[in-house]
Order: sequence, then structure tokens, then C-alpha cells
Amino acid sequence: MTIIPDLHPRYKSLMTRDKLVAGVEAGITSQQGLIAHGRGEAFDYLIGEQTLKSARRATEVAAAMLLAAKKPVLSVNGNVAALVAKEMVELSELLNAPLEVNIFYRTEKRAKRIKALLEKQGANKVLGDLRNAVIPGIEHSRAKVDRDGLYSADVVLAPLEDGDRCEALVNMGKKVITIDLNPLSRTSKQASVSIVDDIERALQNLILAVKEDKKAKNDLAALSESYDNNENLKAVIKEIVSRLKKEDLR
Ligand code: ATP
Repeated sequence: MTIIPDLHPRYKSLMTRDKLVAGVEAGITSQQGLIAHGRGEAFDYLIGEQTLKSARRATEVAAAMLLAAKKPVLSVNGNVAALVAKEMVELSELLNAPLEVNIFYRTEKRAKRIKALLEKQGANKVLGDLRNAVIPGIEHSRAKVDRDGLYSADVVLAPLEDGDRCEALVNMGKKVITIDLNPLSRTSKQASVSIVDDIERALQNLILAVKEDKKAKNDLAALSESYDNNENLKAVIKEIVSRLKKEDLR
């Protein structure tokens, strides 16, 4: 692992890159995952590496939706495992929702390693070995999921998802919550709730929001019923544009 001086202006971003490189070396993250992260980073630069107001709103709605769900499932891929395994396990416990390993570039070895990592972080229910159901509308290898997990879930948290699968899950009638720094991605546009934020920031905020909702016993249904994802994505773009207009480019 590279030694990064903590005064380095890009300390946080370099540490995150290191976690992903370590994920590739440990056989958890795919090489393509590094490229996907690069795309995310570019958007984070435009966002100012902070949580936007619109992302906070989406996070609050996501927390309410997950808490009100009958059968929530949290999907984990190689980037998610490398960056926020601990937080995904904590969220799974808070919601009493299983984690399911679901990866784009699947090898059995990689899936097993991700499962082992989640279990090492304390997860007691990790699905993804048993792929006995098929999501309609996508090609076979990516469509296979656990009948008792993603297949029958009513609300799915699928961070860093790809557009096709997100659309296929929505077409099955599920509510899909995604975390994606790109407000223009197919995933962001297809999802029921798109949290346009960095996954590490988003997970911290989501965990806090779930804890607060549990304590406050808010009207969860009302929170998510008044939410329009398309309008919120427009608000994200407005926030980015207004930030860029203020930026001193000299
Ligand atoms: P789509 O299929 O949705 O149009 P894509 O082809 O860009 O998107 P991928 O290549 O699977 O999808 O990339 C995953 C997405 O994850 C990218 O849009 C990127 O912005 C986002 N992303 C990558 N790293 C992070 C991160 N750390 N936090 C949040 N989002 C991220």
C-alpha cells in the first residue's frame, strides 16, 4: 500500500483509490471497477466532493423506503465491498435485510471472496451463492439471483449498479435505490431513488438517517410518496451548475 501523507490535498481521494487497488489485489474488485471509479471521481470533482442538498433529500427518502419495506435486500458488488463493506453490514443489521453478492464480471472465486469479506465484517446473512431465479429482460449470467433475495425483494439498494439491471429490477415492480455520482447515468435515470453522492459519504448519511427515522418514528410513507426522482435529478444538476458558475477559474 502506498504511504500517503495526510496533509496531501487529495488525501481522501488517494486513500479511496488505494482501497480499490487493494480490492483488485485481493481478488474482490474487478479491473473494470477501477475505471468505473474514475468516472465517479470526475463527477465528484464537479460536485465539490461534498454531499449536495438534493443528495441529502434522496438519502432521507431512501432511508424511509428501506425502513417501510417488507423485504429489503442490499446488493453488493466488488467496488462496494472494497469501499464500504463494514457500512453495508451495519445497514443490513439496522434494517434486518440480507446482503446479496451480485457482480457484473462474475467469477465464483470473486463472489466467494466478497462473501467472506462481508462475513469477516460481521454479516450473518449473505446471499448470492444460490442463483435459482432469473431477472427477466437481461442476459442470463447477470440475470441469475437468489429467489429469496433480490428476486423477491420489494425494495433493493443497489449501489454502483449498471443501467440495464436497474431498469430490469424496476420493470419487475421493485423500488430501486441507487448510489451513483453520475446524475446522467442510465442507472440514475432509471432508479426510483438516486443518491448522487460518493458511496462512502452516502452510506454514512444513510446509516444516520435510518437510525434517526427509527427513533423518530416519522411518517415513512408520506416521505417517499411526495418524492419525484426526476425532479430531484434536475435539482442535482442545478446545484452542480450553480457551483460551477461560482467557481473562480483563474
Ligand atoms: P450506466 O449503465 O448506469 O449508464 P455506467 O456504464 O457508467 O452507467 P458503470 O460503468 O457500471 O456504469 O459505472 C458505475 C457508476 O458508478 C458510474 O456511473 C460512476 O459514476 C459510479 N461510481 C463509481 N464510483 C463511485 C463512488 N465511489 N461513489 C458513487 N458512485 C460511483
